[in-house]
Amino acid sequence: MKNGVVIVGAGHAGVQAAASLREEGYDGPVILIGDENEPPYHKPPLSKTFIKDADAKPQPLRGEAFYSGNAIDYRPGVWIDRIDGELRLGVSGGGTIAFDRLVLATGSRPRLLKLDGAELAGVMSLRSLADARLIRELSAQSEEVVILGGGFIGLEIAATLRAAGRGVTVVEALDRLLGRAVAPAIAAHVRQRLEAMGVRLLTGTTVARLEGEGGRVSAAITSSGERLPAQLVIIGIGVVPNVELAEAAGIAIANGIRVDQHMQSSIPEILAVGDAASYRHWFTGGDVRLESVQNATDQARLAARTIVGHAEPFAAVPWFWSDIGDMKLQMVGLTQGGDSHVVLGEPAENRFSIYHYAGNRLLGIESVNRPADHMLGRKMLGAGFSPAPHTVAAGPDALKAALAAFSQDEPARASA
Ligand code: FAD
Repeated sequence: MKNGVVIVGAGHAGVQAAASLREEGYDGPVILIGDENEPPYHKPPLSKTFIKDADAKPQPLRGEAFYSGNAIDYRPGVWIDRIDGELRLGVSGGGTIAFDRLVLATGSRPRLLKLDGAELAGVMSLRSLADARLIRELSAQSEEVVILGGGFIGLEIAATLRAAGRGVTVVEALDRLLGRAVAPAIAAHVRQRLEAMGVRLLTGTTVARLEGEGGRVSAAITSSGERLPAQLVIIGIGVVPNVELAEAAGIAIANGIRVDQHMQSSIPEILAVGDAASYRHWFTGGDVRLESVQNATDQARLAARTIVGHAEPFAAVPWFWSDIGDMKLQMVGLTQGGDSHVVLGEPAENRFSIYHYAGNRLLGIESVNRPADHMLGRKMLGAGFSPAPHTVAAGPDALKAALAAFSQDEPARASA
């Protein structure tokens, strides 16, 4: 491969794809292109710690020596604006880059809200380090912050800024927090803990418009006419995948760049990974586009293996975490479609896990401050082991023993 592999997007997926290509023994050229003018960095800390701590530094995904040491040609501050039919990329501002294989790791961007006043200074979303720096600066000068959207990012920011002493109101259009991402019991628990911290949560409410003074936001007016004073408004109503580059090149799109089980798009030389990619999930059989560090890194690893000639299908167990105030939420599996559940631990102690079942099949586990349950859950689902609900109810030791027995029988099952 003379022109080698070009990766567009230097976030979690893009950097992992570059690393995995080298780990897999690929020795051709690797060019990693990102539009941000930063060494690639971890996104999760931005909403959890970075925005409240004036001294916090970005956490690089890899040290500088990684790029030079692995002959990865990292090109920051470069925007790719087209893919042409000759396996070439067009660089915004001029120039082209040829490739043999292209990995699109273009991620996603905050969903915009059409709202009167959305253009005022002090109205922001959080996606990048540049956004986080500005939110940190503005929140330090703000007494009142209004957050639109009660999803993971909105609630993480709410807890972080509340802990830093700001008055925080979250406005969520649905009548519960965290959409359909978690079980109602988890959403209710999160609500109760956030309210105990002093976060005001308005569910079943929308913001009708934003008011400003001198070009800066000063208040959010809710659909019921309440005026919420705010010097900072953060919009956290979800993300949309960055598919435009692929779409313009004629690549199939379906709520993301459509990929097969090997991360190949409808043009086989072009692969897609991470937040931008949608696929049929092996675990549920449904079409998904997942937004998590795990999904980005595992897909990137697989894309690298596809490029060097392996042909395994994507079969990683999905997992996710979020830190909201004093709650570490960890999810493994995909729990939609469950019809029963078993609870371990005590919500009143802020430590419990919910095991979700469809019939007798364990779909996934949601944990609050029970990391050992989460880790064991990853092992169980990874091994294809679905414990009976009564084994779960007997507690972690019984589960560990059942998993050990299942794993011991594995060779016999495989040869049967
Ligand atoms: P990104 O990390 O978004 O990287 C894509 C990069 O490509 C971006 O830099 C983008 O600017 C660039 N790009 C796009 N188009 C072009 C182009 N045409 N030319 C050049 N460059 C381009 N996940 C978890 O699992 N747990 C968490 O706790 C968690 N917390 C989060 C907190 C925050 C504040 C945010 C924003 C996200 C969080 N996530 C979390 C989600 C996780 O960060 C994403 O799922 C992950 O970053 C996806 O990786 P990616 O590489 O696909 O996309």
